[in-house]
Amino acid sequence: MRNVVGVSGYFSPMPEPGEAEVEVRRSRRRKRTVSAYRRNGKVIVMIPDRFTRAEEAEWVNTMLDRLDRSEQRRRRTDDQLMLRARELCGDCLEDKVEPTSVRWVANMTTRWGSCTTTTGEIRLSDRLQPMPAWVVDYVLLHELAHLLEPSHNKRFWHWVDRYPKAERAKGYLAGVAHAAALDLEPCSETE
Ligand SMILES: [Zn+2]
Repeated sequence: MRNVVGVSGYFSPMPEPGEAEVEVRRSRRRKRTVSAYRRNGKVIVMIPDRFTRAEEAEWVNTMLDRLDRSEQRRRRTDDQLMLRARELCGDCLEDKVEPTSVRWVANMTTRWGSCTTTTGEIRLSDRLQPMPAWVVDYVLLHELAHLLEPSHNKRFWHWVDRYPKAERAKGYLAGVAHAAALDLEPCSETE
């Protein structure tokens, strides 16, 4: 069992280097569901209020392992992102650009994607990962189009709008951003 830190004050209050700080939140409304997510460098684990300390410790470990595994799964898909970028370049940008790297990044808090036009590097926020593929495609194409047109000018949108679901994706992302401002809880995982 790994050493969990900072849980309800029962463990060492300071995280070891490389170990995330864990905050456990107990909820009376929760019956059997446990969920975990990262926020501001911490791992938040939500558990039912009736859990004993032993159950709490066990579940925190389980959820940290699960979080690690799902993050590893996602990291493996940088290659898939690059393949998709090449397809989108062909479909919408007449193969005029060639990105040097395309990868997922965490901790991108104010943008869905970014690119460095001088080096051709593209980064997408890992918050896009649970969203539909056509939304991820849109953000990817948006960043690729910046390699052609750095600013959001008419020529830029001419390229981006060649993607059939561009308008729908813009609306989807605007909706997500609006919901996030309401600070809704993420979906929970049922056990
Ligand atoms: Zn842009």
